[in-house]
Amino acid sequence: MNQITDEQNVVIIGGGAAGLSAAVYLARAGLTPLVFAGSPPGGQLMLTTEVENFPGTDSVLGPQLIENLRNQSKKFGTTIIDENITSVETTKRPFTVTTGGGKTYSTKSIIIATGARALWLGLDSEQRLRGKGVSACATCDAFFFRNKSVAVIGGGDSALEEALTLTKFASKVYVVHRRDVFKASKIMQKRVLEHEKIEVIWNAQVEEVVGTLKVEGLKLKVGQDTKTIQVDGVFVAIGHRPDTDLLKGKVELDAKGYLVTTAIAALINFQSPLYTKDQFDVHYQTMTSVPGIFGAGDCVDHVYKQASTAAGLGVQASLDVERWLESQT
Ligand code: NDP
Repeated sequence: MNQITDEQNVVIIGGGAAGLSAAVYLARAGLTPLVFAGSPPGGQLMLTTEVENFPGTDSVLGPQLIENLRNQSKKFGTTIIDENITSVETTKRPFTVTTGGGKTYSTKSIIIATGARALWLGLDSEQRLRGKGVSACATCDAFFFRNKSVAVIGGGDSALEEALTLTKFASKVYVVHRRDVFKASKIMQKRVLEHEKIEVIWNAQVEEVVGTLKVEGLKLKVGQDTKTIQVDGVFVAIGHRPDTDLLKGKVELDAKGYLVTTAIAALINFQSPLYTKDQFDVHYQTMTSVPGIFGAGDCVDHVYKQASTAAGLGVQASLDVERWLESQT
């Protein structure tokens, strides 16, 4: 294992678009950031196929984009360790972070860029059949459904992207949505609604994933009626939860678990126990309720959740860290 004992300038927890973009900037500023990229590393982009909307790239595979960012940040002096951080000590400085392997690192500042993970419906049958036809990642599992019928649950961009990915393999793709209008962007809606392999089932709640050893169907409540469709796979794409359990009780989180940074506290008009208007400093918009600890990416962002916005928040956090470290000397 990499034996780093000196106090770090900055530890970045998370090796997705936000964490690695912060690392590029901090490394170029000469602050030799240490990134804990998690295990497996790379965040949600690792589960994505083509990314067509990252500025400056025509089309790039998600894992390739992460690889590019890792290489770019390392080129300027970033150290990346593909381990999870299992505890963070925020009550005194220097802060400390401890890895799953039990090694503790001390650091002057921290950027939390832990991202978000997939939500599940919460049905017993869904959990029982996970890995046996129930999945939250079409990119990973679509291949197994060549010439088969599948259903995607959800009405946001993730669900419609999953559905389109699945059309490359499956013979039939149902999109099961609980309302009569999609939440997804217009362009994705158009692609899905015009696709010959896709059938949308509106106003439908999933009652049960049918099957004993593997998925055989999906029992739905559609309006007042109950119906079962025959499918071999079910892809749940109903949103994400910020990956912030590690920070509970350490920095302020909102009711859904997102980090409350200064910019968010300002947005909610400082109706927050830990922030007052007097504390607001426009230079540190990404700072959390603990000075010296900053947040970036999908663990902060309720709204936009794009690879490029996560990268942008990472850059903001890196500039805040740089200025804050200077202010401490
Ligand atoms: P969203 O929160 O946008 O959508 C979640 C969808 O799941 C909604 O349609 C919601 O229904 C439905 N849903 C939520 N809970 C349940 C439930 N218990 N049962 C049934 N349905 C449920 O999440 P996404 O992951 O789709 O997207 C998150 C963000 O990431 C968005 O901002 C999106 O634009 C972005 N994104 C962009 C992509 C791109 O640009 N390429 C790709 C993927 C995501 P309802 O509509 O009723 O609320």
